[in-house]
Amino acid sequence: VSDEIDAILSKLEGDNVRSVLLQFSDLEGKPKNVAIPTKQMKKALTDGISFDGSSIQGFARLEESDMLLRPDPSTYQIIPWSDDQFRSARFICDVYTTHGEPFPGDPRRILRTQIEKAAKLGYTFNVGPEMEFFLFRMVDGHASVNLQDHNGYFDQTPANPAEDVRRDLVISLSEMGFNIEASHHEVAPSQHEIDFTYGDALGMADKVVTFKFVAKTLALKRNLHATFMPKPIYGINGSGMHVNCSLMKDGENAFFDPNGDHQLSDTARHFIAGLLKHIDGITRVANPTINSYKRLIPGYEAPVYVGWSAMNRSTLIRVPSSRGRSTRAELRSPDPTCNPYLTFAVMLAAGMDGVINKIEPPESIDKNIFRMTAAERSEAGIRCLPWNLQVANNALMEDKLLCDVLGEHVVAQINRLGELEWGEFSRAITDWEIKRYLANY
Ligand code: ADP
Ligand code: MG
Ligand code: MG
Ligand code: MG
Ligand code: MG
Repeated sequence: VSDEIDAILSKLEGDNVRSVLLQFSDLEGKPKNVAIPTKQMKKALTDGISFDGSSIQGFARLEESDMLLRPDPSTYQIIPWSDDQFRSARFICDVYTTHGEPFPGDPRRILRTQIEKAAKLGYTFNVGPEMEFFLFRMVDGHASVNLQDHNGYFDQTPANPAEDVRRDLVISLSEMGFNIEASHHEVAPSQHEIDFTYGDALGMADKVVTFKFVAKTLALKRNLHATFMPKPIYGINGSGMHVNCSLMKDGENAFFDPNGDHQLSDTARHFIAGLLKHIDGITRVANPTINSYKRLIPGYEAPVYVGWSAMNRSTLIRVPSSRGRSTRAELRSPDPTCNPYLTFAVMLAAGMDGVINKIEPPESIDKNIFRMTAAERSEAGIRCLPWNLQVANNALMEDKLLCDVLGEHVVAQINRLGELEWGEFSRAITDWEIKRYLANY
C-alpha cells in the first residue's frame, strides 16, 4: 500500500501539481470539493480528509456528522486550465465514516454495490450518456435565459462564441481522459450536445459529474452560462441525458444475438423488461426536479409514454439500429439534473431484476405513439410516465427493489427533499397564474 502511495506522490511531484481538489457528489449529484496543498496528500491517502457531513445536502445524520474523504487513485486528472507553473489536479473520492466504514449514503458506493452484484453473475454494465445543455448569455454578471444563437440541429455557425466553448470543451475533456465521439448543435436555439464513448458505469458517472463542472467553467471563461436545467424555455426542446446501456459478458456484448428477434438476445429483452417494470421509481431518480417534468411532455422529442421499440425514436426505450458491439438500449427519459451514480445504480438493478427473473417485455411499439389516439394507446396498454415530482416520489417509495438499492438513509433523504420541493412549488405563485387570473377575476 505504501508503495502505491509513494507512486502517487511522486507522480504529483513530477506533474508539478501544487494543489489538489478532492471531489465528491452530494445526493443531488452536485459536485463538492475541498482543495488541499499537495503536501497534505500523504495524509489524505493514508487517513483520509475529514469534513462535516451534516452540511452536505442529503448526507445529514445527527449521530455522526464527521466523515472522511478517501481519494480514488484511478480518478487522478490534471485540471487542464490550471496554471503551468502551479498545477491543480483532482481526485474523485469515496466517502467513509470516521470508523472507517463506507458511508451508506455515498452515491458512488451505491452504484459500486450494484456493479459488484452484476459482476458476480459475470456482467459488466456499460453506459453512454448523451449530454445536452444550453449556452445562455450572461447579463450584468448573472446567468440569464437570453439566447446566444438561433441555430438548429447540426448547424455550422461562423464566429459563434458557443462554437468556441464547444471546442474548448472537447480539448479540455480529451486532456482529462474523455474519448469524445461527437459535439454538435442541438435542435433548440443555443442548445448543444456532446457525446463521449461509453464505458463502465462508475467511470461514466464520474465523467458526467466532471463534464458538468468543466462545461460550466469553460463557458464562463467566454462569458456564457452553461445550464443543465431540463426545460429552461417554454415552447422549445428541453435538455435530456439519454443513457445508452448494455451488458457485457466474457468480453462480448450480451445484448447481441444474430439469431434473436431484432438480433437481440434474451438478456437484452429481459433487461428492457426490468427497466420498464421499474420505470416509475427510476423516474424519481433520473428526473429529480420540478422542472424535469416540464420536459417530459408531448411534442418535443422527450418521452411521455412507457414502452420500447427497435423501430422508432419516440419511445421511452429505443434500441438503435447498430448491432454487434454497439447493440444497446437507449433510455431517453433521464435528464442532466439527475445524480448519475444513483441513476445508473437504479437502472442496473432494474435491468438485472428483469434478467434474473427472466421478465418478458411487452410487445414493442412500432408506430409513433404520439400519433396514436388516447383510445389506441389505452387499447395497446400504453401508460404515461409519472407526470410530476410528487407522483414519481410516491412511485419510488412503493418500489421495494429500488428502495433496497438506494438504502434506508438515501430513501429517507430523497423522500424528504422531494416532499419539501413539491410543497414549496405548490405554494409558489407563478407568472403563469398571474397572467391567467389577475385580470380575469
Ligand atoms: P443518438 O443517435 O441517440 O443521438 P449518439 O450517437 O448521440 O446517439 O450517442 C450514442 C451513445 O451510445 C454514445 O455515447 C456511444 O458511445 C454509446 N454506445 C455505443 N455502443 C454502446 C454500447 N454497447 N453500450 C452502451 N453505450 C453504447
Ligand atoms: Mg445524440
Ligand atoms: Mg440529442
Ligand atoms: Mg450524437
Ligand atoms: Mg439519443
